[in-house]
Amino acid sequence: MPSYVIAEKCDGCMGREKTACMYICPHDLMALDPATRKGYNQEPEQCWECYNCVKICPQQAIEVRAYADFAPLGGSVIPMMASDSIMWTVKFRNGNLKRFKFPVRTVPAGSVDIFADGAQADLAKIKQPGFYSHHARGDELPVPPPLKS
Ligand code: SF4
Ligand code: SF4
Repeated sequence: MPSYVIAEKCDGCMGREKTACMYICPHDLMALDPATRKGYNQEPEQCWECYNCVKICPQQAIEVRAYADFAPLGGSVIPMMASDSIMWTVKFRNGNLKRFKFPVRTVPAGSVDIFADGAQADLAKIKQPGFYSHHARGDELPVPPPLKS
């Protein structure tokens, strides 16, 4: 089941033009209703239940049906993000609550330079397959090991 917004909890990210759920959705599905100032999933059938909007919502106002392998049908799963950890509250349909806390970082926030080990793009190779990432890894493409018979 796709993400859905619990309207009573949503504060529209306090009037921001782009809400947290709009910012994070990799499929650009979340929108803000200009009349109610509440977030909503504008194309639920396109949602792949990635949980990004659920995790980023500062009001815990978004839910996605819990994956059946850890919370049976009828349960709910609410995350609460901190800067270094995430706390999952799983509510089972019989009312039982369980909480799980996991670290989400091994380095300080903002300290990762994602291009640190990448070479500068060689524009002379712009029409070659593998432009940039190929260049960054060297000239040889990795060769997979032979299949075992
Ligand atoms: S991130 Fe949460 S609080 Fe903000 S608009 Fe979306 S549902 Fe509402
Ligand atoms: S669960 Fe993922 S794909 Fe679905 S609306 Fe939220 S962020 Fe987008």
